[in-house]
Amino acid sequence: MVGAPVVAIGVVLVIPIPLADLGAAHAAVADDVAIGWQKLLADAAFIGGPPVRAFECDYAEFIGVPHCVAVANGTDAIEIALRALGVGPGDECILPANTFMATAGAVFRAGATPVLVDCADDGTYLIDPDAVEAAVTSRTRAVIPVHLYGQAAPVERLRPLARRRDLWLVEDAAQSQGAQRWGTKAGALGDAAATSFYPGKNLGAYGDAGAVLTTSPGLAARMRMIADHGSPRKYEHQVPGFNSRMDTLQAVVLSAKLRHLAAWNAARRDAAARYDELLSGCESVIRPRTLGGNEHVWHLYVVRVPHRERVLASLRNAGIGAGIHYPVPLHLTGACSDLGYPRGAFPVAERNAPELLSLPLYPQITADQQERVVDALRSALSSPA
Ligand SMILES: *Cc1c(COP(=O)(O)O)cnc(C)c1O
Repeated sequence: MVGAPVVAIGVVLVIPIPLADLGAAHAAVADDVAIGWQKLLADAAFIGGPPVRAFECDYAEFIGVPHCVAVANGTDAIEIALRALGVGPGDECILPANTFMATAGAVFRAGATPVLVDCADDGTYLIDPDAVEAAVTSRTRAVIPVHLYGQAAPVERLRPLARRRDLWLVEDAAQSQGAQRWGTKAGALGDAAATSFYPGKNLGAYGDAGAVLTTSPGLAARMRMIADHGSPRKYEHQVPGFNSRMDTLQAVVLSAKLRHLAAWNAARRDAAARYDELLSGCESVIRPRTLGGNEHVWHLYVVRVPHRERVLASLRNAGIGAGIHYPVPLHLTGACSDLGYPRGAFPVAERNAPELLSLPLYPQITADQQERVVDALRSALSSPA
């Protein structure tokens, strides 16, 4: 890690290992960003324009869909996808209880009601298609599978149900840029998809940004309109919209980083394989499982451990930036309390939440650093409570 503060632990000086190293990614694109931003500053063109269009084209091509609409963040992207599909008040949207709050937040913002379901108990932490089937009502309009931690949900198992019950499949692809399911990229698996370019995502901007993806030109036009004050042309407001445009500055960064994304994802896969190997003898650590047919992009490498709080504290003391994704299933948060789910409603998500631990993972992590992480984890797990 470049420029990291050195922390004195006892008498030993330790260089911390962060959960993610955004500085290392920046180093790879610093020149491109500087050149692109200098041109932007000279042109003084900060909203829209050729850099945003260029990024939309490049990202659509990368995912393998004809249409990409650049927006201000990933939460807006989900809301815009739902609103463009006509989902709103009185409608229900099914989504997993174990995801980042934004998935449900976007449904609330669209005026619809989130209906939560458990994740599969198969080590993937992905939405359970059988639970989705059981949660469908006459008011269900959409299912939002989340491609959690960097691998695609089994969307093909939701498709027959969606067809039969006339439901939209809206992918939350915020954590899965470049992931594939049976050779198709996440983001091209549903009726529409939303992604986030929050700085810590596999493809991260230097601030907030996001995108909506679809194969339908009509839907794409609606999305673009909603994200720009409901107006396809200046002062021609056809529907109530809002402002969710991507800053031109961010498009320059994202275009520069997109050229590295496939290689960065491959490096993440190598690092995940190394963790798998290093942890294979570790009885008390439950390693993540990749679903058959998936090419994983390892946004996060999440294990389950006993005594998680103690282990986390011990890792942090050793200068290791482990994280938790996510500590509280949505139905047990204050934000979702009005939905009325009791404790015990989603037993798999509830059992997992206090055990989840995300280990440092980024494309530039070294074998040495990973060995230090695993050594620290082993010693945390073997020290008496
Ligand atoms: C990051 C994220 C979002 C929201 O993205 P923002 O750009 O922060 O609004 C939505 N869903 C999931 C699963 C995410 O990880």
